[in-house]
Amino acid sequence: MSDLSPVERLAKLRTLHTWLAWQLRDTERKITELEAQVRAVTGYVTEQERRAGQAVGVTIHAADCPKIQNLVTVLDATKAQYALVKDDGFHHPCEHCRPDRALGITKE
Ligand SMILES: [Zn+2]
Repeated sequence: MSDLSPVERLAKLRTLHTWLAWQLRDTERKITELEAQVRAVTGYVTEQERRAGQAVGVTIHAADCPKIQNLVTVLDATKAQYALVKDDGFHHPCEHCRPDRALGITKE
């Protein structure tokens, strides 16, 4: 690319920018479609909790929770209940959708 003139490099970079912008829009569209599919799923989903880039636990949501940002796994009620009861130091119920209440773990 260094053999190109500044005008040629600029044209190449504009082409690259257009292509990357299209890829970003296409990826966002696919994410939106998949989020809609996930929300149509009944059950529960997991989402990794990260602080300072480190995995610190897993949040469990109802599948239709609007707070889900990065879906990891879909769980049925039995597996979600097991995760919240058996490994409650690592798995946490979402503060918004409170799957622990729906699963009968917490009665608040
Ligand atoms: Zn939630």
